[in-house]
Parts: sequence; structure tokens; C-alpha cells
Amino acid sequence: MMKIVSLGEIVVEIMATEINQPLSETGLFSGPFPSGAPAIFIDQVAKLGVDCSIISAVGNDGFGDINLKRLRKDGVDIEGISVLEDEVTGSAFVTYHSNGDRDFIFNISKAACGHLSLENANLDVLSGCTHLHIMGSSLINQNIVDLCLTTIDIVKNNQGKVSFDPNIRKELLNDNMKASLTKILESTDIYMPSEAEVTVLSSFDSDDAAIAEYFSHFKVSEIVLKQGSKGATVFTPNSTSTIAAFLVDEIDPTGAGDCFGGAYIACRVKGMNIDESLSIAAQCGARSVTFKGPMEGTSTLEELLDFFQ
Ligand code: ATP
Ligand code: MG
Repeated sequence: MMKIVSLGEIVVEIMATEINQPLSETGLFSGPFPSGAPAIFIDQVAKLGVDCSIISAVGNDGFGDINLKRLRKDGVDIEGISVLEDEVTGSAFVTYHSNGDRDFIFNISKAACGHLSLENANLDVLSGCTHLHIMGSSLINQNIVDLCLTTIDIVKNNQGKVSFDPNIRKELLNDNMKASLTKILESTDIYMPSEAEVTVLSSFDSDDAAIAEYFSHFKVSEIVLKQGSKGATVFTPNSTSTIAAFLVDEIDPTGAGDCFGGAYIACRVKGMNIDESLSIAAQCGARSVTFKGPMEGTSTLEELLDFFQ
């Protein structure tokens, strides 16, 4: 029996329809789209057929409903999502620039998912959990950090494993958050940074030295480096596996890392080896960028076969 649980924000994403459209001017937007890194991750896990839940919170509103409906339809157990009557569901407004950068306006810390805590979280869904996934973007206050550390203890005490995607957006990083990220890294088995994040939690400035430090000092067993349209690389203490990105027409890059990550962990939990897992994950990441909306491009194996034929 295997079960994957993720923890953290569920939000809607509302996207500017024009490239370079400032968020400070009136303009057209599309959405709401179901979103939130841990939600996209777990939706991708469900689509690959692994038992899964997410510990999160939404408000009793349309933005919460669109997420609950999508996650349930795709096979995620939604029992771990607390509906907080006095809060609204989180949101992220995003605009894309022609150089590939993105600007966000988040309503997360004051929204339902920012009020997630040991008081209102449903930890019953950790029963039978063999793998917990944490995202750095979720660690926005001490209540959520405490909740993460408690869930890590529960899962580790049951011989489960922990994966961790630092997912550090420049708009959200502060010193407190860095200390929390480091604490999570101390319990991490599979670390999943993006290229720009490799050295963020290391005392070294070079990628090679940082990776060596994660293996020796932090006892990580696998490092999955996400390199966007260049592909991905998995390091273990004694091996390196690389995959090039599949060539696709990118429409919306948001969510690629979460689809890739959910697929990689689902495959590893199913017992697939690193190379097989990398291949499915890279396919999921590539297919996801061909859809507008962060959770619109999660894939089943059948959808991957159709798409890459
Ligand atoms: P984000 O946090 O912005 O969602 P990330 O930095 O965590 O993204 P990426 O490296 O952007 O993750 O994407 C994860 C994987 O998805 C890549 O390693 C690659 O395999 C695949 N991928 C991403 N973008 C593309 C693309 N444009 N074309 C093909 N494959 C892609
Ligand atoms: Mg990422």
C-alpha cells in the first residue's frame, strides 16, 4: 500500500490576458484557474493512479469550490481540505513579461490557506501515508511551519519518506522562511530544487559543492534538479541521470515544476527506477506548459501516450 500526501496552499490563479500587461492598470484577465503548488502536485499524483490526499484549507466560496471539484474529479481524496467559514480562498494574479519573467500579486497569508494550522488541519489523512511532499512556498508563517514539522514527524515515525521542493519565489522569501526551509531540509529524502535555487540553502556558492553538502550534511538521498526547457538531472551520492526537455510549444510555464514533481514522486513511490521516473516526469512537465492555466495540464499515462505519439 502506498499513499502520497502534500500540504499547503490551494488558490485560484487569475491571469492577465496580454504579455507585459501591468498589474497596476485596468485590463482583461482570464480565470479563475485551480492552482497552488501543492494542489497541482497532488492532482498530477492522482492522475498517475496513486492514492493521495492534500492537507489544506479553502473558504466556503466559488474559488474553493472550483478547486475541490477539480481535485475530486481527478482522484484526490479531499477529506484533508478544511473549509474555513470565516475566510476566503487564496488567489494569485499573474502577468507574464516578454523576457519570461512573471509578476504575482498573492492573497495567501490572509486567506484560508494562510490560516491553516494544527488547530484546523485534518491529520487523519496521514493514516497510511508512505510519502509526504512539502513546498517552500507553503511555509509563510509559524503555524504552517509547525504543522509541516508535525506531519513530517508523523510520516517519518511510520517509516515514510519526505520530498521537498524549495519553490522560493523572490516575492515571498525572508530570513524566517530560510530558517524554516533549512529545518525541513534536515528531514528531506528527495530534494527538488530549480536551477536558480540549488545553492539557496547551502553554505557554498557553487552548485557542485552545494549538492555534495546536501548529501553529506543533510542526509538527502536524491536531488532532482529542474532545469526548465533545458530538462532535468537527478543526482544520488553515486550516480547522475539526465534527461533533455521534450520539444513542445510553450503556452504557459506556470505549474510545470509541480506537474514534473508530482509525476516523479508518484513514479518513484510506485517502484519505478530513477530513469523511468525522470522520463514520465519530463513528459508531464513538457505537456503541462502547452496548456493555459497551472493545473490544466496535469496528465494521465494515456494522455501522455496520445500527446507524444
Ligand atoms: P515552476 O516553479 O515555475 O513551476 P520549476 O522551476 O519548479 O517551475 P521547471 O524546471 O520550470 O520547474 O519545469 C520542470 C520540468 O518540466 C523541467 O525539468 C522540464 O523537464 C519540464 N519543462 C518545463 N518547461 C518546459 C518547456 N518549455 N518545454 C519542455 N519541457 C519543459
Ligand atoms: Mg518550482
